[in-house]
Amino acid sequence: MIRDQETFPLLIDSLARFVRERLVPHENEVAETDAIPSALVEEMRALGLFGLCIPEEFGGLGLTMEEEVRVAFELGQTSPAFRSMFGTNNGIGSQGIIMDGTPEQKARYLPKLASGELVASFALTEPGSGSDAASLSTTAVRDGNHYVLNGTKRYITNAPEAGIFTVMARTNPDNKGAGGISAFIVERGTPGLSLGKIDRKMGQKGAHTSDVIFDNCRVPAANLIGGNEGVGFKTAMKVLDKGRLHIAAVCVGAAERMLGDALRYAMERKQFGQPIAEFQLVQAMLADSKAELYAARCMVIDAAIRRDTGQNVSTEASCSKLFASEMCGRVADRCVQIHGGAGYISDYAIERFYRDVRLFRLYEGTSQIQQLVIARNMIRAGAA
Ligand SMILES: Cc1cc2nc3c(=O)[nH]c(=O)nc-3n(C[C@H](O)[C@H](O)[C@H](O)COP(=O)(O)OP(=O)(O)OC[C@H]3O[C@@H](n4cnc5c(N)ncnc54)[C@H](O)[C@@H]3O)c2cc1C
Repeated sequence: MIRDQETFPLLIDSLARFVRERLVPHENEVAETDAIPSALVEEMRALGLFGLCIPEEFGGLGLTMEEEVRVAFELGQTSPAFRSMFGTNNGIGSQGIIMDGTPEQKARYLPKLASGELVASFALTEPGSGSDAASLSTTAVRDGNHYVLNGTKRYITNAPEAGIFTVMARTNPDNKGAGGISAFIVERGTPGLSLGKIDRKMGQKGAHTSDVIFDNCRVPAANLIGGNEGVGFKTAMKVLDKGRLHIAAVCVGAAERMLGDALRYAMERKQFGQPIAEFQLVQAMLADSKAELYAARCMVIDAAIRRDTGQNVSTEASCSKLFASEMCGRVADRCVQIHGGAGYISDYAIERFYRDVRLFRLYEGTSQIQQLVIARNMIRAGAA
């Protein structure tokens, strides 16, 4: 749902210009320094990018799902590290509080997340539990007005930058499944919370992950999200459902950028006396990429509109994440091929994008986990 047909295109235009004029020129620098210049982060704050999906009453833009994916189509057109900087504030880091937080939790944290004063991380994955997230072993034991957290979280996006962490931990040791898990907000600086070293990644330089370690970390009971034990896994899954549509949209944006670069290259590069774009085998790669991209874009918009009308889009979100992230990988591969040897050389953006987009098939649920979600939903519906 687009709430205002007149102002929304203006937002899209200004974001597209910001991406093209401010972010794209800094891509190489970010990849080389593994850092986003603070002046650019400031510009992101000023544009409201940290609060895109935070409700207006807390200072955000309160984008609908359709608006969010259309914004993500634009933001996807540059290095994913830029989006990652404010991605957790809009998505996995804040949505647990937005969806299930108490009024006090919302009032305390959301305005600071919306302004970008605080960065939020989402801490679900552990060394021993990734795809099987419900088996997590971080514990939270009630002690008076506090919970005492122990355990390690792995690959946590923006952990080095985060001011708060949404942490899933087991409050009921007798329940080894999803029902024993609760969600907490843990503030940076809480005694007993520490970070591991920053992970060295294949791509997405400028976006940082690390372990988050809890060693007898005492968290006020008031920071139990929603004030209820045992529903933290449900919160996490709702957050990821929405996040999957967002990532699918980012994949569409990234594929559009890569294909645009490859088309330009194919029209300029000459072999056998003519632009390589004239060769039908190159045209096939361009056309297959365009068709798949169009399909992914349509899927993402359709799922987003359904979600805005209140439908349960668990299946459609997983279909979108599965198809769009796999599509993005295929497009990246073809675009390297179209660039020939130049596609393997880091002077061309495609070499970096090829590595950057590999992550989309892995996080917020691997492709295999999306397949499981889709098939399980189908079987459940078939049995009903
Ligand atoms: C850069 C980066 C950033 C991340 N950011 C965050 C973050 O902010 N917060 C967070 O909580 N996590 C984060 N993650 C973790 C990410 O979500 C997990 O890595 C991902 O869910 C996969 O878990 P795993 O790595 O343990 O792989 P595993 O679960 O060990 O999977 C390994 C392989 O086995 C397959 N597999 C597993 N189970 C099944 C099954 N039942 N059927 C078929 N195949 C299966 C998987 O698909 C995969 O191919 C991040 C990861 C990375 C790399």
